[in-house]
Amino acid sequence: MSGILEAPQVYLVGAGPGDPDLLTVKAQRILQKADFIVYDRLVGEDILDLAPAEASRIFVGKMSGSHAMPQDRINSLLVGLARPGRIVVRLKGGDPFIFGRGSEEAETLRGHDIPYEVVPGITAASGCLAEIGVPLTHRGMATGVRLVTGHCREDEPLNLNWRSLADPDTTLVLYMALANLPEIRARLIAAGLPADTPAVAVSGGTTRHQRMCRSTLGSLPEDIASAGLKAPTLVVIGRVASFARSRRDTFSAGAGDLAALVLREIGHA
Ligand code: SAH
Repeated sequence: MSGILEAPQVYLVGAGPGDPDLLTVKAQRILQKADFIVYDRLVGEDILDLAPAEASRIFVGKMSGSHAMPQDRINSLLVGLARPGRIVVRLKGGDPFIFGRGSEEAETLRGHDIPYEVVPGITAASGCLAEIGVPLTHRGMATGVRLVTGHCREDEPLNLNWRSLADPDTTLVLYMALANLPEIRARLIAAGLPADTPAVAVSGGTTRHQRMCRSTLGSLPEDIASAGLKAPTLVVIGRVASFARSRRDTFSAGAGDLAALVLREIGHA
């Protein structure tokens, strides 16, 4: 057993959804003392720039047209890099324990008696939805939330419990779902979720590339395709999606209109 009191040699760090301001203070502090950073596609340059210039940066994500480094090679890489007195940061988008395979890396490190620590991050569901004003739960609208993958292992069919997912009282947040949206729609509707259930998709959430597409379960795949949203895209299905507002929507009124709006909101007009 690796002693819990030993100084960590590897940190599994969540980088949040994209905006560097959404890093935790702890993630920033650890990045600033990194010797090696092993990162993937969802981690932006502006976050990597927080590490010392002399830290070695190792990209293990998928480049367009080529494959990502297989997970077992990433695991071996972390084991190979780890040694006392060295800080290896495994930096992942969002939270390392939400669809990030961080738990597999943690298991490998544990199996090799390498002291490590997990630093949680803001997952795409909370980061992206905060940006568009959508609460994950809301009294009278959603009593719970489910974070679900829309993509199974290489080309395997989606093996989800559709009956339990088709619950109008729960917010459904789908990660990695773009390619399987037509099937997801068909299965949810067949399991009883109404086609007019509000839905919203956000791509590049919290970054300057952020785009949003409001829709309903019934028209989601077509609306996302015609809006041209690309990965990474997060899909939300449930009543709370009706809250979705882009910042542009909120601030598109001219200054005069905006003042009138504010006065009306606070009851002075
Ligand atoms: N560990 C990450 C999720 C990794 S899976 C987390 O906790 O957020 C990758 C999927 O996450 C993407 O396919 C997309 O569905 C979602 N995602 C991550 N960052 C996103 C972002 N900035 N905007 C929209 N979706 C995002």
